[in-house]
Amino acid sequence: MASSDTIFGRILRGEIPCQEVYADDLCLAFRDVNPQAPVHVLVIPREPIPQLGEATDAHQALLGNLLLVAAKVARLEGLESWRTVINSGAEAGQTVFHLHLHVIGGRPLAWPPG
Ligand code: 5GP
Repeated sequence: MASSDTIFGRILRGEIPCQEVYADDLCLAFRDVNPQAPVHVLVIPREPIPQLGEATDAHQALLGNLLLVAAKVARLEGLESWRTVINSGAEAGQTVFHLHLHVIGGRPLAWPPG
């Protein structure tokens, strides 16, 4: 399945709704439908890269933008501490094969994750 055909591709194309938190030319941030904490936002690139392991040197600026937007989202949500997670690959827990950063916060977070 091409990653533009994932559920996130459909969200980017406006075919299904999302609760948008932030958007710019390179990415979109929206609330996770199944939040694991009081704040759980996903930041996705508009370009449908399936997973971090498939990003190339050509994506350097885009990947930097995703991290900066994660921090911007945390600030917008009033978080002083938060966790940014990227699951890359099925065994790491990735279920949607369109690269995305989780921004999770608003409660104490244990380490290590499961
Ligand atoms: P992954 O497990 O791939 O790292 O994360 C995928 C995330 O996407 C999950 O946390 C899941 O709850 C979220 N998700 C799946 N489908 C939808 C959807 O249709 N809308 C939104 N907002 N989040 C979704």
